[in-house]
Amino acid sequence: MRHLASDELLLDYASGALGEAGSLIVATQCALAPEARERVAELEALGGVLLDEIEPEAVSDTAFEALMARLDEGACAPIVTKAPARPAAPSRVPMPLKGYVGEDFDALDWRSVGGGVATHEIELVDDGMRAFLIRVPAGTMIPKHTHKGQEFVLVLEGGLSDEHGHFGRGDMEISDGTIDHQPIADAGADCICLAVTDAPVRLSGPVGRVLNLFVRI
Ligand code: ZN
Repeated sequence: MRHLASDELLLDYASGALGEAGSLIVATQCALAPEARERVAELEALGGVLLDEIEPEAVSDTAFEALMARLDEGACAPIVTKAPARPAAPSRVPMPLKGYVGEDFDALDWRSVGGGVATHEIELVDDGMRAFLIRVPAGTMIPKHTHKGQEFVLVLEGGLSDEHGHFGRGDMEISDGTIDHQPIADAGADCICLAVTDAPVRLSGPVGRVLNLFVRI
């Protein structure tokens, strides 16, 4: 089963209401998961129907045209690039992320946060959200934690599991203060994820409660 961004998030994305961090993670999921692109298209179609039904008089021709032009541009549309004469080895970095982190995860400046887990901050316009890559070694468990705000985690490589299921490449897990979880990376390959949060996570296990005082993942 695919774990997609919520309809609310996809709609906000399609309408341009998301900030930079939110747009980045949704665009990256669209690049990795055709199901996300299809859902955006469905929601856009539904949005058009709702506009027609709710305020047929209030929507001017030009406003409608502007909306359709915007949807046509669709940031979720597949990105077509000219094939180079001599194709290079395919990059592991999904297209929307390349402008932020380059072509090679291994070449990044990773900051160790303990237990073999490392993070790489992504520079964004400061809109109250934080985006970073997190790399978890194969088979490694992240400390049990809950969240003060919302946490969006998109798997870019490898996979991870927690109480809510298994998340593979292109899957997104959305967590908030009601979710307490302890993700573990799949055996066999390191798991690299793009994470977007609007508040630091809070470690919730017995050791974690103490660690909270000292660390911030
Ligand atoms: Zn979490």
